[in-house]
Amino acid sequence: MHIHSILPATGIDKGYSYKADEILPLGTYVKISFGRQDVVGVVWDNDVTADIPLNKIKSVSEIYDSPPLADDMRTYIEKVAGWTMTPMGSVLKMVIPSYKLLEEPKRPLQFFCMSINGGGAVALNKDQGTAAHDLCTNIDQGYSCTLLDGVTGAGKTEVYFEAVAECMRADHQVLIMMPEIALTGGFVDRFEKRFGTRAALWHSQMTPKQRMTVWKGVASGQTKAVIGARSSLFLPYADLGLIVVDEEHDQSYKQEDNVIYHARDMAVMRGACMKHPVILASATPSIETLQNIESGRYSEVTLPDRFGGAHMPDMHLIDMREDKAESGEFISPTLHRAINETVKSGEQVLLFLNRRGYAPLTLCRSCGARLECPQCTAWLVAHKKSGRTFCHHCDYGGRSPDKCPSCDADDSLVPIGPGVERIAEEVEAKYPDARIMILSSDTAEDGLKLQEKLDAIQRGDVDIIIGTQMTAKGHHFPKLTCVGVIDADIGMKGGDLRAGERTWQLLHQVAGRAGREVLSEGRKGQVYLQTYMPENNVMESLIDQDRDAFTSLELEMRKMANMPPYSRLAGIILSGKNEKTVEGVGRTLAQTAPRSDEFIVMGPAIPAFAMLRGKHRRRLLVQCSRKINLQKTIEDWLGRIDIPSSVRLSVDIDPQSFL
Ligand SMILES: [Zn+2]
Ligand SMILES: [Zn+2]
Repeated sequence: MHIHSILPATGIDKGYSYKADEILPLGTYVKISFGRQDVVGVVWDNDVTADIPLNKIKSVSEIYDSPPLADDMRTYIEKVAGWTMTPMGSVLKMVIPSYKLLEEPKRPLQFFCMSINGGGAVALNKDQGTAAHDLCTNIDQGYSCTLLDGVTGAGKTEVYFEAVAECMRADHQVLIMMPEIALTGGFVDRFEKRFGTRAALWHSQMTPKQRMTVWKGVASGQTKAVIGARSSLFLPYADLGLIVVDEEHDQSYKQEDNVIYHARDMAVMRGACMKHPVILASATPSIETLQNIESGRYSEVTLPDRFGGAHMPDMHLIDMREDKAESGEFISPTLHRAINETVKSGEQVLLFLNRRGYAPLTLCRSCGARLECPQCTAWLVAHKKSGRTFCHHCDYGGRSPDKCPSCDADDSLVPIGPGVERIAEEVEAKYPDARIMILSSDTAEDGLKLQEKLDAIQRGDVDIIIGTQMTAKGHHFPKLTCVGVIDADIGMKGGDLRAGERTWQLLHQVAGRAGREVLSEGRKGQVYLQTYMPENNVMESLIDQDRDAFTSLELEMRKMANMPPYSRLAGIILSGKNEKTVEGVGRTLAQTAPRSDEFIVMGPAIPAFAMLRGKHRRRLLVQCSRKINLQKTIEDWLGRIDIPSSVRLSVDIDPQSFL
């Protein structure tokens, strides 16, 4: 009889003793009963002594013959847990979400991407060739992290595909990570065209069977390439040789619940831990990444031009204080003229507004009440097509009311501000003959699936697209020559650390949708930004398309304020049903915090979302010098305090959100 320390894939930080008849190799997957349920666990230590009597120790219920979790993967799990300050068992759960993945399938599985051939390679231009060569020489040479930096349309994908090919020629596996929203058919088809085989896809909308196929293919080493959202990083690859993080600046790489982690940073950590290269690709790299290049931690490969000679668009600022929209409307006369001309010449317009639904706020004209969510600090958002008014955070709400819920007045509710549906209404009235489409994550509202919509745009079946953030990502619309940003200031309003950076990245990407095909006679795509603050440095550097000017100013400001990347931040978020208890824990934390010039604790503060899904919230913010071990200091501090079980505490290392 041998006793093993087994880490259950639950939110637990340590292994528990279980017995088995034989010595199980480290990393073996087992089924164990834990509490009242069966969970999967991994042998973390074999043949140990236990300080409880043998007859009290439970036996392993089942031993799986799946390849064991590799040593370096266990080290990686420990590192991720340490970095994110979450229990190891929570990280293990991301690697193996269910023991069902380990069971024998009823029918043999058909693995994706068993081998590749490089048949569909396209000819690269000189700059692309040089960049591809640089990336290829890193394959099989241990850890490196390289930014592939190139404007939208410069052909970054073709360049990193060369490194992917090189890695697969050396018979290693490859992971290409993308923001979830960009994981549409288009990219997968492109991969298939290039490599003659379909890559395995990994994202949140998969069936259990699809999950099992990919998980087993990856763990056995039979699946050579995965294209996945952030969670694909935690698959147990048998022999991963390269990670590409496409759109590395994208904020959706940050997971905000359970294990709070940044998938880009954890990808770099995985490369360092497992000694393989990582490529970060972006047209608008994050400030952190640019600073990592400046300091020599990452290297950089740049692509200067748009592929095939297409030009960057002309950018125009529309000062909404001068160029006023008509009352109750949101499109300025200048933008209207541009829409009109574009549609007349048979080309496409994209109107960008990062707001779903019809109106972000509904107000009662007789009593002044605003429709608010009782469980969150948020307005209810009116959606006209579905006839619902609901909370975007918790789904509270239902059929749009026809009288005011506060004063019962009829016909007194008025929409305030625009969402994409309201812009569509304005456009429909002005251009009755134009074919109009809304592109937002509420795709179900008019029955067409996202891919069908993208295909229709590509075929030219649409004249005016009205879209949210999802239109900014990677799609290639050949007929699109004019982009109008309805409210360029929208992202600046929160005023948090990265407001300027995010606005710059998003609007630059949206602008990049215009004129991606070479227009005849040297014509360029046209981009119009409607703003109330045209003299703001973000707007100015967008118009000048001067990224370096924006970056150096932004870095300068961060340095003066001693903000990341020059210092480190951590958010401590408390939530619970009883506001007094939550507040009390917040105060205790503040009173007991270690304080010095190099470790500053702010709060507890009432965050913008003072209430979310029925729970009261408080936040503390830690600002810490880069010389100090942030996680260790927080761990020591929190370890000295008893936190009641009715209050949930989570730590957000390098927070992106301050709400
Ligand atoms: Zn009212
Ligand atoms: Zn809500």
